[in-house]
Amino acid sequence: MSYIPNLRIGLTRNTLLKNFIIGNVGNVGRKRIISFRYFANSIESSTSGAEIPAKKHAPTKEVSFTADKYTYLHRNHNFKELTQDDIRFFASILPASGLIIDNEDDLMPYNVDWMRKYRGKSRLVARPKTTKQVSQILKYCNENKLAVVPQGGNTGLVGGGVPVFDEIIINTNNLNQIRSFDPVAGTLTCDAGCILEVLDNYLAKRGYMMPLDLGAKGSCHIGGNVATNAGGLRLLRYGSLHGSVLGLEVVLPDGTILDNLSTLRKDNTGYDIKQLFIGSEGTLGIITGVSILTPSKPKAVNVAVLGVNSFQNVQNAFVTSKNKLSEILSAFEFWDSNSLKLLKAHNIQGTKFPLEDNYPFYVLVEISGSNKDHDDEKLQNFLEELLTNEIVKDGVVAQDDTQIATLWSLREGIPEACSKAGAVYKYDISIPLSVFYQMVEDIRNRLQSAGVLGEDKLVKDVIGYGHIGDGNLHLNITAKSYDPEITNLIEPYVYEWTEQHNGSISAEHGLGLMKANYLRYSKSPSMISIMKQIKQNIDPNGIMNPYKFLPAQ
Ligand SMILES: Cc1cc2nc3c(=O)[nH]c(=O)nc-3n(C[C@H](O)[C@H](O)[C@H](O)COP(=O)(O)OP(=O)(O)OC[C@H]3O[C@@H](n4cnc5c(N)ncnc54)[C@H](O)[C@@H]3O)c2cc1C
Repeated sequence: MSYIPNLRIGLTRNTLLKNFIIGNVGNVGRKRIISFRYFANSIESSTSGAEIPAKKHAPTKEVSFTADKYTYLHRNHNFKELTQDDIRFFASILPASGLIIDNEDDLMPYNVDWMRKYRGKSRLVARPKTTKQVSQILKYCNENKLAVVPQGGNTGLVGGGVPVFDEIIINTNNLNQIRSFDPVAGTLTCDAGCILEVLDNYLAKRGYMMPLDLGAKGSCHIGGNVATNAGGLRLLRYGSLHGSVLGLEVVLPDGTILDNLSTLRKDNTGYDIKQLFIGSEGTLGIITGVSILTPSKPKAVNVAVLGVNSFQNVQNAFVTSKNKLSEILSAFEFWDSNSLKLLKAHNIQGTKFPLEDNYPFYVLVEISGSNKDHDDEKLQNFLEELLTNEIVKDGVVAQDDTQIATLWSLREGIPEACSKAGAVYKYDISIPLSVFYQMVEDIRNRLQSAGVLGEDKLVKDVIGYGHIGDGNLHLNITAKSYDPEITNLIEPYVYEWTEQHNGSISAEHGLGLMKANYLRYSKSPSMISIMKQIKQNIDPNGIMNPYKFLPAQ
């Protein structure tokens, strides 16, 4: 096998294949792509994934208060303000290390969200260690009408995990024990505050993995993942948490501990109550325990990044991947050239991009299987078909785990690069693939026509990336600052556009504060009415994460 640069092969007329290794196969001397080029030596390896501990994004006092910025919000005066009696109560339940009270600097990382877009004014963070403590705290808050915000890793992107006014923050940092793991069934039971990556590392040693993965894995909690019904990078393969979560332990606002921590895969005895809490974003109760079905860790993983000339060909590559890779396809992600530009400008992990030329679009394809030889053969056939049909122009295949992590870091680094660019307006929508990228272009044109898009203008860039395999676009608009003029140009336009194309205004990030008032674009009046009835029934005092999730009217 030899590396022949700039070779044109018979399979694809006029296609310059800079990065492929070509060799003779079979006894007829036919030229075949043996594999993509190895990474160049100059490409640094990266750490696994984009670890984003909240501390790295230490919020500053420059972030303005949500209540000042969004003047339509008014504090609900039915809620009590924190008193010394309340503080004495919390101190009787939790040790000093489990409480932060009236210290602005210490409270700051809990009051400000990851994007530094929302900032609350909470005076108290409670960090219980046990379910019983959560129950005692919630019971007290409910009886005294003290509003609360459940908080996990605070990596949410819709302002759901931080207070709007002076709500008490109940953070799950200290609820971090793995309770049990069944190595035969693959069922894991743990506290809600366990960090996703910690769980994944624990399982890896036992031959299993978490069924979800996201760029925030180094900080987000499994309880937060369940509360937001997080999707992430491998939903395509392992499905949503509505399928993999087997049971939950939840503390209701009145302090009742709902023990639904089953590890059974089949249980048809009544309403499936846990489903209500998956994606409820802290509005119905606090999740304290999770049991989840974990898949076996694949023996063979391959990752390729490909350069593509048109969005039509991104779709063609996806269809080809389903045909050729079917059951071993585990991720199909995409980003546009503007995303790459941003990634290079804010190169967080020092990664050099492995493709020499620029392309309008890039896709990352991951396959995970149990037999390396079979998988390599399938990947080979897949890549050959892409090249034969001139669907991709260039690409690389990772040769080891370090290179796999490096290729993934290109995709996972985009949200962080956006946040480094200044203020970022994030939209997370589900739309049919046929109009997927049209959304990005329409917004770009709209901002251009309004004269606000450009290097020295209010809006710096409009980028698109996301989970092609799930029809989930992340539209990010980077700006100098959060400005009402920009907001008014984007909203509700982006939601109307989504509704017109039969999409969802929240594919995976949830509603939080950002989208509560736009719910009507994705849910009918009767659906919203039922949601309100459920909320009223479980949380009659409305103390759980107020002002969010459901529209005010
Ligand atoms: C770099 C980056 C990449 C991301 N990638 C993805 C992605 O690919 N897919 C995706 O879906 N999301 C993604 N996110 C968003 C975010 O990471 C997820 O929403 C995650 O599930 C939030 O978990 P958390 O523990 O940080 O929750 P938080 O941000 O603390 O809270 C989120 C919401 O859940 C509620 N909540 C938290 N814990 C509990 C609990 N124990 N009980 C009840 N309610 C609770 C909060 O009140 C809030 O409404 C990303 C975020 C970042 C910063």
